[in-house]
Amino acid sequence: MKPQKAWRLGLIGYPLEHSGSPVLHRTALAQTGLTGTYRLYPLVEKNMIPQLLDQLRSGELDGLNVTIPYKQTVLPLMDQITPAAQAIGAVNTIINNSGLLVGDNTDADGFWKDISPLLDTKEISAKTALVLGAGGAARAVVYELVKQGWQVTLVARRLAQAEVLLETLELPNLKTAHWDSLKKLSFYNPYSLLVNATPVGMFPHQETSPIPDEINLPTHLTVYDLIYNPYETMLLKKAKLNGNAVLNGIGMLVNQAAQAFSLWTDKDAPVDKMKRNLLRKYGLKEK
Ligand code: NAP
Repeated sequence: MKPQKAWRLGLIGYPLEHSGSPVLHRTALAQTGLTGTYRLYPLVEKNMIPQLLDQLRSGELDGLNVTIPYKQTVLPLMDQITPAAQAIGAVNTIINNSGLLVGDNTDADGFWKDISPLLDTKEISAKTALVLGAGGAARAVVYELVKQGWQVTLVARRLAQAEVLLETLELPNLKTAHWDSLKKLSFYNPYSLLVNATPVGMFPHQETSPIPDEINLPTHLTVYDLIYNPYETMLLKKAKLNGNAVLNGIGMLVNQAAQAFSLWTDKDAPVDKMKRNLLRKYGLKEK
């Protein structure tokens, strides 16, 4: 019998000790019956990246994820860049396509796979979304929402940052609003979806929320928080009590990994089992 291929996958970034990727990909390998490893490559210096990319190009490695601070650094080192990675301006997954390195970004896909089943259960009168924050994660979310036909208002405390994001994305149906707009109840009415893509509310500042205390969100708003630690942020807790449909970002994290795994191996990833093992690793409980 032909020996089974051993998959050599890994993650480059720094620091990496709290990354959830190893548990996600090792679960995916085990559950799909593949053998192999998912190694961490904590690179202190960016000049160590080309050597690893050579290993991927030569077939010594089969796939790499990229995380902070190298998601932008690797862009010019790719042979090809997918439209998603190009638009988002960051690569989180590298595939070896017959000796050519293809830089992709699976965050946008991960977000959409997670949120779309929830949106499907709602009667959405207008595909209009508020996205809070104008950093890397907001870029992926905005890219995907616009691709899916949504009109997006980007809400940022530094309007200049939001304007840059809007200009460089070069997408239709985008506008910006200042953070102070969140203080007005009437501001929310035209929107069906609110996405928090800021770290406000994240551990260890879980007592904070991007939405002012005195605001009770209109109940027709679906609320998505990219944060998953705590599992239920102040934003989600309050919105849930208020009657809004809510979801945290754990599914996005799992689905971006699942998509990367499928791109490398051509196998469907076991998302439920991956999520369960990730929650266990982080000591989080589903609510
Ligand atoms: P980032 O690039 O640093 O961007 C953060 C954005 O939030 C910036 O626009 C920043 O504005 C804004 N912000 C930070 N503190 C704020 C505050 N107190 N008030 C208003 N705006 C504030 O970070 P990122 O990579 O986009 O990540 C954002 C969040 O998403 C993090 O919590 C991260 O853990 C989460 N995330 C989750 C997933 C997932 O799979 N679930 C994936 C990626 C990221 P300034 O530039 O003015 O500070």
